[in-house]
Amino acid sequence: MKIICIGRNYAEHAVELGNEVPNDMVIFLKPNTALNPNKEKWFLPNFSENMQYECEIVLKICKNGKHIAEKFANTYYQELSLGVDFTARDLQQQLKEKGLPWEKAKAFDHSAIVGKFIKKEDLDLTKLQFTFTKNNEAVQHGFAKDMIYSFDKIIAEVSKYFTLQTGDLIYTGTPKGVGKVSIGEKYEAFLEEEKIFEFEVC
Ligand code: MG
Repeated sequence: MKIICIGRNYAEHAVELGNEVPNDMVIFLKPNTALNPNKEKWFLPNFSENMQYECEIVLKICKNGKHIAEKFANTYYQELSLGVDFTARDLQQQLKEKGLPWEKAKAFDHSAIVGKFIKKEDLDLTKLQFTFTKNNEAVQHGFAKDMIYSFDKIIAEVSKYFTLQTGDLIYTGTPKGVGKVSIGEKYEAFLEEEKIFEFEVC
């Protein structure tokens, strides 16, 4: 499986990082070794002074496809979850300034958390919202309606370049409120009212 991530999919998050709201979809990949194997702990790596969380809605691809038309895209995912796209922001900034690829800052080992999956028929996708908390205080609120690119648009665009395969995960971008993680902090993510994952930074 592979992990596909969309960048700058919420205008207010692009602005908070000083980025332009893009005309084209920002797409990048993480390898399968990016998935954090530990459900309750996340170990802070030592190569960044500014490791940041980005909580995002995650789609799980349920069948193979390429050049998927937007009108059929909703048949390619049956389950959703929440996840974290960890980003070594200092390293990412250095790489961006030099025009170099992002992988060291975005695709390192354990840079992706994913929680339990919920069947999409149990959700109202038009009103979908999520909350991410740090030490019991909300730091991010996401509303799917605020996404620049919808789930179906993402699948159509991504599948022009990358064959989607069963089990692939798509991280659909983060809303505003990203921030630095530090050892000892506890995080929880809720899709609507339901807790999807929690972890402590170690
Ligand atoms: Mg992200």
